Amino acid sequence: MGKLISKGWRKSDARVIMLGLDFAGKSTLLYKLKSGQAVETCPTVGFNVEALQTPCGVSFTLWDVGGQDSLRASWPHYLEDISTLIFVLDSTDTARLAEAKAALEEALGHPGMAGVPVLLLANKQDVPGALAPAELAEGLRPGPLAGHRWMLRGCSAHSGQGLQEVLAILGILLRG
Ligand code: GDP
Repeated sequence: MGKLISKGWRKSDARVIMLGLDFAGKSTLLYKLKSGQAVETCPTVGFNVEALQTPCGVSFTLWDVGGQDSLRASWPHYLEDISTLIFVLDSTDTARLAEAKAALEEALGHPGMAGVPVLLLANKQDVPGALAPAELAEGLRPGPLAGHRWMLRGCSAHSGQGLQEVLAILGILLRG
């Protein structure tokens, strides 16, 4: 698995891993960031990866790792040598907020994650009734984020709302 994962990226690129529960919108975000278009995606079995740049020209590879229950066991394989973790939340899915929190805690508990900055994305802000980022933060009560530099931002992979800011923040985090 480690070899397979290392095939797709050059050591010189910063590596950003995007995790979250299935249906949070990770693949849609990846392709929206890449092409500026919202494309219909299929559930990710394994991972998708794209080379991207921040507005300030910082190159990075963004890995979208499948979040279905059965695939979460593979997350630790992706959590080596990473520059930043993006954790995507479905702001409309209050029923699975506790599950998302548990998955985030599990990912942050991996030894490779010590001190890695975390960008939490409250996706699907275009949907009426979606929880605001502050409400999600309240639900997450992210104790395990202690010791990490972290931020939470709202966005929509469909409309593109907030995505320029996401790239700008990544630029700041990746430059250290
Ligand atoms: P993943 O399993 O986390 O990769 O989620 P997908 O990217 O496959 O998205 C799951 C579903 O949510 C798809 O039907 C997407 O079109 C939809 N979706 C993703 N992002 C957004 C968003 O920002 N707004 C809305 N309304 N739907 C979204």
